Parts: sequence; structure tokens; C-alpha cells
Amino acid sequence: MEGPDDCQAQSIESSNIATILAAQGVEFLLSGEEKVPLSSCDGKTTCLFFSANWCRTCKTFLPQLVQVYDTLRKSCEKIAIVFISFDNNQKEFEEHFKCMPWLAVPFDVNLSRRLSKRHHVKHLPSLIPLTSDEKAVPEDLVGFTEDYGAEAFPFTKSRRQELKAKDTAKLEGGNLEDLLAHEGRNHVIAMDGRNVLVSELVGKTIGLYFGAHWCPPCHTFAARLLEVYNALMTNSKEQCFEIIFVSTDRDLNEFDLSLKSMPWLAIPYSDKTRHELCRIFHIKGIPSLVLIGPDGKTIGTNGRAIISLYGAEAFPFTESKLGELEAASRKEGDALPREVKDIKHEHLLKLDTVKAYLCDSCKKRGRFWAFSCDVCDYDLHPACVEETS
Ligand SMILES: [Zn+2]
Ligand SMILES: [Zn+2]
Repeated sequence: MEGPDDCQAQSIESSNIATILAAQGVEFLLSGEEKVPLSSCDGKTTCLFFSANWCRTCKTFLPQLVQVYDTLRKSCEKIAIVFISFDNNQKEFEEHFKCMPWLAVPFDVNLSRRLSKRHHVKHLPSLIPLTSDEKAVPEDLVGFTEDYGAEAFPFTKSRRQELKAKDTAKLEGGNLEDLLAHEGRNHVIAMDGRNVLVSELVGKTIGLYFGAHWCPPCHTFAARLLEVYNALMTNSKEQCFEIIFVSTDRDLNEFDLSLKSMPWLAIPYSDKTRHELCRIFHIKGIPSLVLIGPDGKTIGTNGRAIISLYGAEAFPFTESKLGELEAASRKEGDALPREVKDIKHEHLLKLDTVKAYLCDSCKKRGRFWAFSCDVCDYDLHPACVEETS
């Protein structure tokens, strides 16, 4: 059990893994099958990695962490990760550790328990930084690393604030190239494999469409978006609108399938900008449409609702345009009778606002105002009503 240590002593002690482990009776660390001294982490930013082979989330996270670690090592950053195993036995520990390019504490369930208690580990996987820096991020780094990859290094609070500020700047926007291009890539791709320079898109209204082939609601929304896209591309002479697909497909094959049905552009699948855009715009579900104005500034993240409701009429999706549409629709409703008796239907029809419906007379889609039957599922466009005299 830990005593009520002096604060300062605790802070210095907690920054050095050699001290921590020596106090627990550990004599060496493992690097592959080799034994290495406890001092192997000296002078490095050290993180404890609590994980187990049987844990699903660990399996998803591990390859990401390996990638981050390799990237940091390649750029000569001083990082050390020490695996603390919650595997069931020595054999499973060895299996698990095989996939890790970093160090490990020799397998010892009781030691793992003590260390996890000491570092307030609440779940697996857990990546805990050891630091004497008062400003250090105290909590688990798993989410932070998933979000930012190698950029999260050196995992401090100030680094987190810096990255958040960058995201906010991109969210507020103003520079399309900052948002869509990426080191070594200044283009997006078209269905036919053509590269389109991001600089060619500057000055257009942009829709960032987040979707995936495996998601049925995306198919429905994409069909609607396609109508809007075609309408805007044929109607406007200068083609001041463009859609860019940000895929959340599970693999390249699915991405190719998605792209096949899209006449617009896409961020390349291999590019981490896809992930970045989801993070910056806080995309929690798909389909989702983020609208960006000709000045590169974000108009809104509610493009899906706007497109579903108003279609191409809503272009250029500005607040004033949406206000106009809303007012016009209200006015339209005010001019209509509250109820009508139509010659085609036996019941009284009442004026109603419906998000989307199919007119039972002309079989075309309708939005907002409808004359609907309370008794049966019957809707008419106001213009399709033929009143009985
Ligand atoms: Zn109709
Ligand atoms: Zn009816």
C-alpha cells in the first residue's frame, strides 16, 4: 500500500519508471526476448501501456499505437512505452507482446494490479504518461492518441490545447486549402481518377459529405444530394457549388464502391485528412453534410437537414436564404384554407406541415404543406386539391 507521500516527492518519483519499478521489486524490462535495464527509459517521454490480449478495444487500439510509436521513432523523438500486461497467463502475454515494438514489464499479475491501482487505471487499454510536469494531461491518452496520432506527442496539456486551437481555427475556417489539402497533396480526386486542385475550389460553396457505402441512410441521403447537385450544376453557369466526399468506409474496396455512384469529388481514402475532418467538425453520425461558404468559412454542419428540407432552392445555404425560404413557406401556409374536401377522397383533408411526403394524386414528392387525411394515409399537394363545390 502507498503511504500519504509528500506531494513533491510523489511528483518526482512518479516521473521515473526505474524508481517506480525498483520500488516494486522489478529488476529489468523486456525488449523482445532480451532483458534490458530499468534505466532504458531514462531521458525519454515514458508512457505506461495497460493492455490485454483478450480485450477487443486493445486489439483496435494497438495497431494505431504501433503506428504512432514507429512514426515518432522515425523522427527521432525520445519516446518510451512500457507494456503492463493484464493477459491471462505467460503464454498469452508473450503472444500479445510480440505485436509491440516497445518494452514490457515481466509478466506478473499482482504487479500489474498494483501498478494499475497506483496510476488510477479504470479500463483497458490505458496509456498513462509518466511526467513530473504539473501541466501534464493527467488522464488516459488513448482517446487523445486516437484523435491526433503522432501529433499528440509529447502528450502534454499544452500540446492538447495547441492541437484543439488548430482544430477550432480550421472549424471556423477561412482557408479551404488548410482544411482540405495535406502535406504532399494539394488535390482531391474525382470518380474518373482525375486530380482536382484544391485551389480550383476556392470561392465555391462546398458541401463536405460524410458517408459510407455500408450505411443505408447514406444511400437515401446521397440520392437526394445527387438531385440537388445536378440541379445546381445545370442551373448555375459558373458552377459555384461542389461536393467533396469524406469517406468513413471500412476499406478501400468499399470506398471505390461509394465513389462509383458519385459525380463529385473525394478526399483520397489513404489520406488522414478524412479522419481529421470528422474530428474538426465533430461528426458523430453519418450521413452528415457540412456546408462551407465561398469565403472558406463554415456555414453550418446541419447541411443534411437543409438539403432534405429545401433541396436546391436553399442554395447558397446562408442564414438569410434559409430565412427567406422559411418566411415564404409560412406565407404559403397562411394563404391556404385549414381544411378542404377533395373530389378524389371521401374524407375531409386537413392542412398539415409534413417534412416529406408522396402526393397521392400526382405521385410526386412534397414538403411542408400538405392536405392530409386523419383517417387514412392520404396526402395531397395543395396544388393537387380539387375542391368539391
Ligand atoms: Zn401532387
Ligand atoms: Zn381518408
